Amino acid sequence: EDDFQFILCEGCRQESPNLKLLTCLHTLCLNCLSENKPVSQCPVCRTAIPQASGIPDMDNVLFTNLQARLGVYKKISNSGGPSCSRCQGEAAAVWCSECEDFLCTKCFEDHQWFFKKRNHEAKRVEELRAESAHQFLEDTRKSCNLFCSSPGHANQGHVSSIYCKKCKKALCCSCALLDSQHAPFCDIRSETQRRQEELGTMSQELKQKRSSFEATHAALQDEAAQLERAQQEMRELIRQRVEQLVRLIRREEEELLGLVEAGQEQGRRELARELQRVGGVLRRMEAGERLVEKMNLYATEQEVMDMQPFIKDSLEELQRLQPPAAGDRAQPGDFAECRARLERL
Ligand SMILES: [Zn+2]
Ligand SMILES: [Zn+2]
Ligand SMILES: [Zn+2]
Ligand SMILES: [Zn+2]
Ligand SMILES: [Zn+2]
Ligand SMILES: [Zn+2]
Repeated sequence: EDDFQFILCEGCRQESPNLKLLTCLHTLCLNCLSENKPVSQCPVCRTAIPQASGIPDMDNVLFTNLQARLGVYKKISNSGGPSCSRCQGEAAAVWCSECEDFLCTKCFEDHQWFFKKRNHEAKRVEELRAESAHQFLEDTRKSCNLFCSSPGHANQGHVSSIYCKKCKKALCCSCALLDSQHAPFCDIRSETQRRQEELGTMSQELKQKRSSFEATHAALQDEAAQLERAQQEMRELIRQRVEQLVRLIRREEEELLGLVEAGQEQGRRELARELQRVGGVLRRMEAGERLVEKMNLYATEQEVMDMQPFIKDSLEELQRLQPPAAGDRAQPGDFAECRARLERL
């Protein structure tokens, strides 16, 4: 049964009585095509569908008929077997491929009488049941008739056996004989044979073309893989480089923070030294003031004579001292080097 998956719609994988053949030679059911988006493309291979409605004109009659014939075979091979399609009651004894009917023995007799002018080929259900699906399809293929293509003739059951090469049409004997426009003729079987062979040859020739397309396909796949690889490598390179830069910047951060720390330390030390110096001067001035005051209050003349020059020298030295100007020291919190390095980052 899996051999016959090919008769299903290539979209939904279902049987359908309305199979359409697209120009790309994909087969899709009417349902799939009416839900197809965009309507102008084959859903399998994206080839354009020329019809504005998105519904191709060509029916895949081969697959549709094969579905029907396989349906008949299924009925035949069912355990119960088919029942007569005329009287509905009796078990069918034969299958008439022309009428596409199962018939019981009684109905078959009626059928033979009714159709005795036209040679309907009826097969025994028992024989058919012994056949494989392939054999059954082969048999029904042989017994399928081609009808005359003149208007009305097919309906009247005019079987065609002649092909007119000028009109490229199948004709019944009466059309071929009565209408003098038709010629030259050939046997319809040789024409169908020729058409099959024509397709076979073309298909064979296409195989060479196919191999060059396959080579191109492989090359394109290679190229796509290469591109993917190159992209991957580039991504990796970027990641590595950025990681490296981040590490570098982190190190710089640590160094700069260290510099700030050291600068702060130095600033603190300098300030402390300065504070100490200025504080010392203030204390010397206090001591001087105090001593001069005490001299004034309590000193004897002898003491004044002994000590005054020394004290005067010290006071003169204090007089020469200047408080340090604000600009003399490096400004704390200046961090000039840090700023410069930050800008260089
Ligand atoms: Zn479908
Ligand atoms: Zn397609
Ligand atoms: Zn019957
Ligand atoms: Zn029949
Ligand atoms: Zn005809
Ligand atoms: Zn003709």
